[in-house]
Amino acid sequence: MATREIEADAPHDVRTALKRGLRCKCPSCGEGSVFKGYLKVRSSCEVCGLDLTPQRADDGPAYVVILIVGHLMGFSLPVMFEQMRDSPLMVACLLSAFAIILSLIMLPPVKAMFVAFQWAKGMNGFGRSQPAGVNQETRWTEGC
Ligand SMILES: [Zn+2]
Repeated sequence: MATREIEADAPHDVRTALKRGLRCKCPSCGEGSVFKGYLKVRSSCEVCGLDLTPQRADDGPAYVVILIVGHLMGFSLPVMFEQMRDSPLMVACLLSAFAIILSLIMLPPVKAMFVAFQWAKGMNGFGRSQPAGVNQETRWTEGC
């Protein structure tokens, strides 16, 4: 157990963790899936057992996706409008569909990268030594 606590407290490679997050895989082992649905983060990794409950991605992934997709839309709008000047409704429909589809594609990997970054940096309870069987939800219910 002491080896595992020391390993959990050791600094992690951010680049490797982010690459694993980009594939929506566990930041620790890179094999287990971070999600058990579209965006629902598992309580623990199914392969290595990493406790994922300390993650606090919250609205961060949505802000990053809006930032990226918004910029792409902002640069695409004048170009498309110039090319399709006769049909502005078609421009609006195409850009809206593109924005929705791109956002839905980008959200899971961006959220997994947020979780991976928090794990790699030891944020929000990641990396702190905890007694076995105690995760973030347990600490909240017990008032720790
Ligand atoms: Zn894992």
